[in-house]
Amino acid sequence: MKEKKSFSFTAVVRFLGVLLLTASMAVSCGGNLSQGDTQTSAAQNQVTETQEAETKATGTQAAAGAESSAGDESAGATKGPSSTPKDGTLEVHFLDVGQADCTLLVCDGEAMVIDAGNNADANTIKDYFNEQGIKELKYAIGTHPHEDHIGSMDAVIGIWPPETLFLPQVETETRSFQDVLHAAEKKNVPITRPVIGQQYDLGGASFQILGPITDYGDELNNWSIALKVTYGDCTFLFTGDAETEAEEDLCESGQDLSADVYQVGHHGSSTATGTEFLKRVNPKYAVISCGQGNDYGHPTAQTLERLDAQGAEIFRTDEQGTVVALCDGKDIVWSTGPSASRRTGEKEPEPAATFETVTEVSADADYVLNTRSKKFHLPSCDSAKTIAVDNYSEFQGSREELIAEGYEPCGRCKP
Ligand SMILES: [Zn+2]
Ligand SMILES: [Zn+2]
Repeated sequence: MKEKKSFSFTAVVRFLGVLLLTASMAVSCGGNLSQGDTQTSAAQNQVTETQEAETKATGTQAAAGAESSAGDESAGATKGPSSTPKDGTLEVHFLDVGQADCTLLVCDGEAMVIDAGNNADANTIKDYFNEQGIKELKYAIGTHPHEDHIGSMDAVIGIWPPETLFLPQVETETRSFQDVLHAAEKKNVPITRPVIGQQYDLGGASFQILGPITDYGDELNNWSIALKVTYGDCTFLFTGDAETEAEEDLCESGQDLSADVYQVGHHGSSTATGTEFLKRVNPKYAVISCGQGNDYGHPTAQTLERLDAQGAEIFRTDEQGTVVALCDGKDIVWSTGPSASRRTGEKEPEPAATFETVTEVSADADYVLNTRSKKFHLPSCDSAKTIAVDNYSEFQGSREELIAEGYEPCGRCKP
């Protein structure tokens, strides 16, 4: 436990260091650090990790003062760390794992991971967990069996076998998924299936299972475990890659979907984050976990527009790297300012063929010519229909005349 405590101290130091730096800007749940604070990135904060224990202790005292001034305006800055500093923070780390999800939650020395990136992210995740001083995992949730969510879960289980491993009641034959099952078996970690309404504690925080609501057949995305994490007044919603159908079911289930922070479903795809669903969530903050220049066009302009329309501030791992939220049960402070770019992942459409082709060959034409390639075709040849208008010509006469003019017969229609 001692190690966990010192980790938590460090965490408080790191984050409340941010508060100290920006004490005047640290505001209530409705606000956050301004744009100008983007240089105080999570990565930068991690530097503090390497400091000696003594420094950590000193930092903690300063941090505790900052906590009082930020969280409770009536508390004097001289108020020392009278309460155990290890209590009172939920950290939510949205790791930058490219086009994938991996979220680490730490509260009062207890840790949990929601998804674990692609197979190739194992070292990134391991390093990050080590930097954060993670010694044990209480929970691991694989929202659904796609590689970008469970790819490195086997590696995580191998090092930090969780007390409880959640996987939805759906299987797939992929190597990535089978590796997770084998890793769990090897470490004697039983698989827990999500049950709607079940609640679990993570330190002083708790989370409740909201979905999947029903059987989604082979629609693996819709099988995504949905959960809401609550810490004091602060709430975080995770829905994995759940798409419209699953979102509608969540809405119809009558569960309270409202959340301060919404991890945007399916990496910002327009097949998720439906308008009605988003209304129900009504997030103050939205975090999009996706990779720069990904092949899926995430996030889509549509999703960004919906989030803007709902008034959510947007954070993105593709632009900002790992993004961290620190919550004291009342206020949420971010490791960086929100993104203002609204850059979509959608690629410019491929330039379409700009030339027009002739759709109908005149009835009296004996042959069709491509004046550029010097080929001649029968009027019925498919290739004749692909000749650009500028290079198209019709001919009445014999094939010998054409050959004499330097034309070659098409190899396809063999005129
Ligand atoms: Zn995904
Ligand atoms: Zn998926």
